[in-house]
Amino acid sequence: MSEPSWFEEGARLSVLTAEPIGKPLDYRAPEGGCWEGAFVEVPLGPRRVLGVVWGPGDGDFDMAKLRAANRVFDVAPMRTELRDFLVKMADYTMTPLPQVLRLATRAPGLGDPPGMRKIYRLGDHEPARMTDARARVLEVLEAHGGAGYHLGELAQLAGVTTQVVKGLVKSGAVIETEVPRDLPFARLDPNRPGKALSEAQAQAAQALRASAGGYSTTLLKGVTGSGKTEVYLEAVAQCLAQGRQALVLLPEIALSSEFLARVEARFGAQPGEWHSGVTQSERRRLWKACGSGAVQLVVGARSALFLPFRDLGLIVVDEEHDSSYKQEEGVLYNARDMAVLRAAQAGSQVVLASATPSLESWANAQAGKYQRLDLGARFGTAEMPDMGTIDMRDEALEAGSWIGPSLVAEVTKRIAEGQQSMLFLNRRGYAPVTICRACGHQIACDHCDARMVEHRFLKRLVCHQCGETKPIPETCPSCGVSGKLAPVGPGVERLAEEVTRRFPEARLAVLSSDLFGSARALKESIVEIAQGGADIIIGTQIVAKGHNFPKLTLVGVIDADLGLQGSDLRAAEKTFQLMRQVAGRAGRAEDKGIALLQTFQPEHPVIRAILGGDEEAFWAQEAAQRQAQGVPPYGRMAGIILTGEELQPLFDLGSHLARNDGPLRRIGAQVFGPAPAPVARVRGRHRVRLLIKAEKGAPLQSAIKAWLKGIRLPRTARLAVDIDPQSF
Ligand code: ADP
Ligand code: ZN
Ligand code: ZN
Repeated sequence: MSEPSWFEEGARLSVLTAEPIGKPLDYRAPEGGCWEGAFVEVPLGPRRVLGVVWGPGDGDFDMAKLRAANRVFDVAPMRTELRDFLVKMADYTMTPLPQVLRLATRAPGLGDPPGMRKIYRLGDHEPARMTDARARVLEVLEAHGGAGYHLGELAQLAGVTTQVVKGLVKSGAVIETEVPRDLPFARLDPNRPGKALSEAQAQAAQALRASAGGYSTTLLKGVTGSGKTEVYLEAVAQCLAQGRQALVLLPEIALSSEFLARVEARFGAQPGEWHSGVTQSERRRLWKACGSGAVQLVVGARSALFLPFRDLGLIVVDEEHDSSYKQEEGVLYNARDMAVLRAAQAGSQVVLASATPSLESWANAQAGKYQRLDLGARFGTAEMPDMGTIDMRDEALEAGSWIGPSLVAEVTKRIAEGQQSMLFLNRRGYAPVTICRACGHQIACDHCDARMVEHRFLKRLVCHQCGETKPIPETCPSCGVSGKLAPVGPGVERLAEEVTRRFPEARLAVLSSDLFGSARALKESIVEIAQGGADIIIGTQIVAKGHNFPKLTLVGVIDADLGLQGSDLRAAEKTFQLMRQVAGRAGRAEDKGIALLQTFQPEHPVIRAILGGDEEAFWAQEAAQRQAQGVPPYGRMAGIILTGEELQPLFDLGSHLARNDGPLRRIGAQVFGPAPAPVARVRGRHRVRLLIKAEKGAPLQSAIKAWLKGIRLPRTARLAVDIDPQSF
């Protein structure tokens, strides 16, 4: 890694901007000179844009005609390590560098002067008069308002006028204070003692400490509740004690105040937060503090990976298998893999934590590329639940019923004993399909290749792909017959109906993301359930993530076969992970739990593996299959996604590409397709995909580059390369 150079005023510079120009442009260094990596403002045509000094200029453009950068921003220059990472990431993901740079320059108000600003926080008083608008303001403040909001920001988030906020200030329910724009972050104290660790935890923590200090990757595997978080917080402590910065990535949905509170309990102060719920002013403050080193620990969503840390010593990727780490729009990348790439540039330690690792990480550990640490049991007396299947071929299911007699009996028993049951169904809404019983027509989204899902709670049909909604029609849009449209199949809302019918006395809670107006309402509901405020909990995917319900001793999976349909080679892995995570909800405290899977194919190898408890055997078998097929992680894959308004030209182009695959054949790669992409139509645009399969060591990116060189896209069509696609 080379040291950054200094450029005297007037020297020729090469500046990279996030504008879609493709390459850095030459400028003259601004007044006072600047460092390599400096954030500068440069003229571009009639505009002024943000850029980063990428190195000495080398163009032959006439020096006399070269324009000068306008000014240097008063922030730390982008480090060589981060620039190297962005270049490598652009190469790897086959994305133009400016587009990747944009991920790292999301720094609102870079040029704002320091000074004071007014912020608004929660006060101690209840307002004398409560209105809906006032309640919304208070709700926003309670959910995310620790650091306070600007007036305009708060009003906008709550959907009220600024007058409403001012009114609350008068009544004392909201406090207005002046703070410096760049309020310092509270210091975290890494030397405060953590919890006394169990033997296994202490060993894992020791191994992490021993491998710190430079680049290394560790897979930390342990069932939910085994104390992975406790263990990696030890690694964070050591990193902070050495004066370096640490980053913990969480799936967005898991970014809760619960985790922040845990950090505060451990280190005596809150970390910096970076995700979509953080305000502009907070982002700006955190972004700067990363560069100056003033923030020690950042907890964030995947985009936190692009923050300009001064000295990044550790990156933790919690729930590393989570598919939300893959960004599927714009720059297509997997934050878990990019974390490893960044750490390699920055000389940081990486910890990948999961109860059910991705096959990629498992294989990397198996091959000795990653260190692997296992936390065997749950912490304390809690035990993993027993698991079993309910063979639905033997269950007498009534029409319109989804809970078989065996599961009904188990739930009944739990209610009698004052314990909780959870019924898991990974389908939001009332019914996944609405069909016309006169003509068989299924109501689909007008813009996507997806069926509309009935949501009774919203009284509308919803497209889960694009979010489009429409009222439930009276008459069939295809044959015009009225009164014949009927829901088919269960969603959680319909399951709730059945539960209410079967267990009228039981207290029911439905946890589905769309049933809650705010993150706070969902959180409150979870707390209430944890305290025993429900007998039966119905949940979608959101319940699979780390909530602790001490009284929960039964998990019933309504349709364990759901994820096994279709041709995706990752289906087994995904189902295994999801079922294991859900089952892990049962029996976290003293009571041993049981998880029962309703299935029509109890002999299916994946179902048997889920039950078997021998996870290593499952992974080994999955690995052997992938190896035989030459697919990731034992081979390489890339998707070429063509999108456009018309389907035929996309298929024509796809076929043309597939026929002219010389550069790919030369590296031994194969092309499959064109075929409709896994998501075949979104927001009115068709999506067609080609899949490329190559051997592990093959130079896939350069072959694709050569292959795609000079192709002409039809009008309105776009082409994106998806290296390491999620489904194949
Ligand atoms: P994981 O991250 O593997 O799900 P956690 O670190 O969240 O596990 O631990 C699960 C629960 O057990 C938490 O409430 C945690 O505080 C508690 N716990 C784990 N290890 C210890 C320990 N050594 N001492 C006290 N409590 C612990
Ligand atoms: Zn019809
Ligand atoms: Zn749609």
